[in-house]
Amino acid sequence: VDTSPPGVCIFCKLVAGEIPAAVVYEDDLVIAFMDIGQVNPGHVLVATKRHAQDLLALTADECARVMQVAHLVAAAVHEAFAPSGLTLLQANGHDGGQTVFHFHMHVVPRHADDGVHLSWPRK
Ligand code: 5GP
Ligand code: ZN
Repeated sequence: VDTSPPGVCIFCKLVAGEIPAAVVYEDDLVIAFMDIGQVNPGHVLVATKRHAQDLLALTADECARVMQVAHLVAAAVHEAFAPSGLTLLQANGHDGGQTVFHFHMHVVPRHADDGVHLSWPRK
């Protein structure tokens, strides 16, 4: 069940500029912005502009673009934050650990012994 339809969805509001966000990349299909709850400095989300609930709701073009942009973001984060590792996460459905029901992929810079424990659902 989509609990965050357009009009209510926080990421739709962010895409529309109705709530502030630190946007790092934007094109016709996707937008990338800093996660409000940085698990490590440089934690970025790559989201579709269109309200698509999860991976299964993406078009093939959106799916391809998300990965292309995650790749660009990973390079930028690597340059800016000099992590020794990167973790990409993408959760689908409540039971998959998703909390915002508008498609997004996490790009998380990682460092040795950074104490970050990523699990699904994240706690
Ligand atoms: P999920 O658990 O669905 O994979 O991740 C949702 C992510 O969205 C969380 O990491 C959370 O910090 C982030 N988030 C939730 N609300 C906002 C918001 O209003 N702005 C931004 N930039 N990130 C948000
Ligand atoms: Zn949405």
